[in-house]
Amino acid sequence: MALVDTHVHLADTPLAGDLPGVLSRARAAGIAAFVVPSGDEASSRSARDLARLHPGEVFAAAGLHPWEVGAGGLPDLRWLEAMLAEGGFVAVGETGLDGVVAGADLDAQERVFRIQAGLAREAGLPLIVHVRGAFDRTARVLESLGPGGPGGVLHAFGGSAEVATRLRRLGFLRGVGGAATRPEAVNVRKAVAATPLDAMVLETDAPYIGTRLRPKGSVEPAAVAEVRDAVAILLGVAPDEVGARTSATARGLFRLPGIRNPSSCVPGPASSTR
Ligand SMILES: [Zn+2]
Repeated sequence: MALVDTHVHLADTPLAGDLPGVLSRARAAGIAAFVVPSGDEASSRSARDLARLHPGEVFAAAGLHPWEVGAGGLPDLRWLEAMLAEGGFVAVGETGLDGVVAGADLDAQERVFRIQAGLAREAGLPLIVHVRGAFDRTARVLESLGPGGPGGVLHAFGGSAEVATRLRRLGFLRGVGGAATRPEAVNVRKAVAATPLDAMVLETDAPYIGTRLRPKGSVEPAAVAEVRDAVAILLGVAPDEVGARTSATARGLFRLPGIRNPSSCVPGPASSTR
């Protein structure tokens, strides 16, 4: 079953240094589509360039990460508005609130988050939300947009079931990634086990978030298969069903075109050794 990595930093080191290898290992593991989120203007441009190089397979999001919002600042987001108007993106993000990062100014982050949510709504695109240490506030921001808001993915979500449920009503899905594969991530695994299969999508955040088998910094999008298998065990559902349903959900959310089964475009017999 063709899988979707809904959050992978293909333009970042070390993935960008061996992109043909990274993509071919991912295809061999069954991953057919890759959504590349961004953190600033330069990375948004890189993500779009990658999407243009790999049409129908790599898809880009444009956004300003809360880590890039300085204290008291209201950055000029005209570049983002212009880029979204030009097109070539399937989402706005990463955006959101991070109360944990050093020097966080949540008021400034919220202003920037609200602007990006408004741009997403205008463009008819979902949001890729990064949130740490500000879960209730994030929910209040998104709830204040009212019904018909953009919806999106709560990337690497670590908030409570209560907040997850509030946000699900607004069309926000849980992005399930490497933490779900690690036995010591007890709370994340409990939360995933309590999430309906149709309320989640799979992601790696490669290269950054480690899995049981790969340390952080060296993760590749091929690890979506490891995440799928962990979800299958946590939910007591067959891996193929997890793959099929999360991929259908991701395709619907990001409006991805029909995705080829990657095994049909890997030259020669699909290798099981890499
Ligand atoms: Zn990320």
